[in-house]
Amino acid sequence: MDFKEYIRVIPDFPQPGISFKDITTLLKDGEMYRNAINELKQMVSDLKIDVIAGPEARGFVVGAPLAYALGVGFAPIRKSGKLPGATIEAGYDLEYGKDTLAMHTDAIEKGQNVLIADDLLATGGTIATSINLIEQLGGNVVGAAFLIELSDLNGRAKLPENMDVFTLMNY
Ligand code: IMP
Repeated sequence: MDFKEYIRVIPDFPQPGISFKDITTLLKDGEMYRNAINELKQMVSDLKIDVIAGPEARGFVVGAPLAYALGVGFAPIRKSGKLPGATIEAGYDLEYGKDTLAMHTDAIEKGQNVLIADDLLATGGTIATSINLIEQLGGNVVGAAFLIELSDLNGRAKLPENMDVFTLMNY
């Protein structure tokens, strides 16, 4: 399936020089959105997954329907100050900027197998930080699933070597 046909590429957003891959043009098409989630579901079907964790906000758009389709739980990874309960935090550099991510301390049980889901793998900073948080909580990261990978930014280099990475589209 040519999912790329449904991605809108916007030059110089949010900063000059960034070629932004806009997934809203895929999401608004019900059939293609479902196809994309179903294809990711197929890709991860060999993994034993207890929980999916996704960073806000677009990680929710991929991770939550994937969790629903697999019948597993969903753990939100949020920007600092958004989660109401006790949290752990970790800082990181973005492709454009800096941020801090947080998870509830009880979001994941020790030893649970966690799949991370997000819309896009760029430099890998978001996912490396997500792995850091999940491992601090005692979770076992079994893989990461994305709609899009920006291969030139080599985000995979920031992830553990043996980690399974699944992507529908490459740029
Ligand atoms: P990374 O941390 O550098 O891998 O950047 C990935 C994060 O930045 C993801 O959570 C994306 O939502 C966001 N991001 C970076 N570039 C783009 C883009 O071109 N389109 C959509 N999201 C992007």
